Amino acid sequence: MKPSAFEYHLAVSTDEAVGLLAEHDGDAKVIAGGQSLVPLLALRLARVDHLVDINKVPDLQGITANGGLRIGAMTRHREAERSALVRRHAPLLADALTYIGHAAIRNRGTLGGSLAHADPAAELPATLLALDGQVEVRNSRGTRTVAAADLFTGFLTTSLEPDELLTAISLPAWRAGSGWSVQEFARRSGDFAISGAMTVLSTGADGRIDDARIALIGVAPTAVRASAAEQALIGGAPSEELWASVAEAAVADIEPPSDLHGSSAYRKKLTSTLVRRSLAESASRIGAAA
Ligand SMILES: Cc1cc2nc3c(=O)[nH]c(=O)nc-3n(C[C@H](O)[C@H](O)[C@H](O)COP(=O)(O)OP(=O)(O)OC[C@H]3O[C@@H](n4cnc5c(N)ncnc54)[C@H](O)[C@@H]3O)c2cc1C
Repeated sequence: MKPSAFEYHLAVSTDEAVGLLAEHDGDAKVIAGGQSLVPLLALRLARVDHLVDINKVPDLQGITANGGLRIGAMTRHREAERSALVRRHAPLLADALTYIGHAAIRNRGTLGGSLAHADPAAELPATLLALDGQVEVRNSRGTRTVAAADLFTGFLTTSLEPDELLTAISLPAWRAGSGWSVQEFARRSGDFAISGAMTVLSTGADGRIDDARIALIGVAPTAVRASAAEQALIGGAPSEELWASVAEAAVADIEPPSDLHGSSAYRKKLTSTLVRRSLAESASRIGAAA
């Protein structure tokens, strides 16, 4: 199949890109790496009248450390994966990026594109949630920031307006000594995971957990935080028994979808196992340098 006809616009600045989105409000879509949009257009699962290419917009590129991290929306997965800044300031993100598809996809796909696409089985929405990150957004009238918790509103749906361009991702400062882990299960390397869990754990001077993040992928219409399970970790001393009970709690309230790859009950059991393994790995990395 081929996409239906559209008009192609190459933007060379953020102003030009948001101007084009405003001019064709509702009838235009941004193309970044094209790794999700092009298949959707080619299969005619999506159609668009105007395509705004942002690949040549210089100020959407780049990774800077500012206490936390600021990553331009057009930064390719591969560039972020190889970045020493990302490894130092957001090791969870550095690990999550390695699970995205294959090298060829990571060479083209962008962080902004993955977040705007909002696939619940993708790694980056869950990572942004786990790290309490936010995105910077622009349209022709101004800019705003959207917290991860407010960005993902449904299956492949975000709170971005049709005329808004996601310009950058901001992550808060990484707490030194925190442990992190990404655990996923896919039938073949490079496939979207059937489900996955990512965790971050920190302990206080008494060795007890004082901060815990658990984000789940592939189990709901959006990536989700397991907030009740996170709370159950606070004040606890790291132990296999604690990981096992919290892993059960993490899946207690979710109803994962059933599909060709697995039933809802299978996904629930799998996710619980992945949470347990992820917590154990995070705990083993507490105090280790990223
Ligand atoms: C074979 C294959 C396997 C894959 N496996 C995985 C995987 O395992 N895990 C995973 O996470 N992903 C996977 N992907 C998807 C990949 O990560 C894509 O890179 C990502 O989903 C979209 O990024 P993109 O830059 O290609 O965006 P595009 O495809 O260009 O755009 C995707 C959507 O986001 C919108 N958009 C893009 N950039 C912006 C912006 N700056 N502002 C506003 N809207 C924007 C577009 O309009 C479109 O609606 C896979 C893709 C393929 C083809």
